[in-house]
Amino acid sequence: MLEITGLVAEYGPVRALDGIDITVERGSITAVLGVNGAGKTTLLRSISGLLPAKSGAVRLAGRDITRAGPEDLVRLGVSHVPEGRGVIVELTVEENLRLGGLWRRDRAWLKTGLAQMLELFPPLAQRRRRRAETLSGGERQMLAIARALMSRPELLLLDEPSLGLAPRTAAQIVATLRTLREDTGLTLLLVEQNAGTALSVADRAVVLNLGRKVADDAAASLAADDRVRRAYLEG
Ligand code: ATP
Repeated sequence: MLEITGLVAEYGPVRALDGIDITVERGSITAVLGVNGAGKTTLLRSISGLLPAKSGAVRLAGRDITRAGPEDLVRLGVSHVPEGRGVIVELTVEENLRLGGLWRRDRAWLKTGLAQMLELFPPLAQRRRRRAETLSGGERQMLAIARALMSRPELLLLDEPSLGLAPRTAAQIVATLRTLREDTGLTLLLVEQNAGTALSVADRAVVLNLGRKVADDAAASLAADDRVRRAYLEG
């Protein structure tokens, strides 16, 4: 589904990604782990076209998307939920969801999609006509994910969905992601600093450190790997 080879990304003189190779299978959940500054957010920004790659390549279902911009990527089926949620707080829950569906040409989807999202995230259904600013952190995260899903992506890029949430809320959100994958075959690339949460839901995991990939394995194997945990995940 997604093939990243030799990806290099820089902010001026700062090299944030230094030759990353990652393959993501269709329908899988892949976690990207690592401590602060490892390059996780930069990886998602490079894939979604927000930060042009310096070199290397990103392929989506065989198509070269290395130079594609964010809008092209939404059309190609990639949706990005940035860190810090990114919902529009002045708008209602429903208005935020409708905005997420604006990219779709099939207008019929708007109604179906809206109904599906409210079913998938019951707290959003209860707060459908409330402004997003009245939502809790967990509900805002649900709204950000649901809004991204309104563009009907095949690949969802999620940046730290559990950040700042109570463990129970984070677990609820992660369980919903699993349901989604099972029901729709969605492919997920999940950035997390919280390795425990991410490894409990992911099939595979890669670990980044200082812009390089230092581990890449089945999630269950990585969860059992004390060496990797101590060296790169408890910073
Ligand atoms: P975090 O969990 O804190 O977001 P991260 O693993 O996502 O960490 P990145 O945000 O991708 O890490 O940062 C990777 C490197 O790039 C770090 O050294 C960081 O200081 C640097 N960096 C990130 N954003 C910028 C920027 N806008 N300008 C300059 N350097 C940046």
